[in-house]
Amino acid sequence: MQSKRNKVYKKQRPEKINSNKSVADIVRELKEQSSPAGSYRERSLKIHGLICAKCAREFDHKDRHLLTVHHKDGNPGNNPPNGSNWENLCVYCHEDEHSRGLLGDYFSDKK
Ligand SMILES: [Zn+2]
Ligand SMILES: [Zn+2]
Repeated sequence: MQSKRNKVYKKQRPEKINSNKSVADIVRELKEQSSPAGSYRERSLKIHGLICAKCAREFDHKDRHLLTVHHKDGNPGNNPPNGSNWENLCVYCHEDEHSRGLLGDYFSDKK
């Protein structure tokens, strides 16, 4: 007789894996979730250039981390490939932009 006594641990993670989904689906979703934050920024910087859309301050490789991508419609999930929803803002202008409204996507942009 085999008694496997694995440690009993409670699952405290809130996210549930939907059993209807295949592993491939789940992997794809994870990739989609993790890639936008990294890649849309690069794309936006490429499309709009290393310059703040508000104060027109220019950036180069050394201080490009100070340039962030703002979502014009406030929805960080809306990332059209042509960059129409992006605006490159320096951290100061970006903060200013969000201080009037919600700070939501500021934190996810900041990365
Ligand atoms: Zn600026
Ligand atoms: Zn923003």
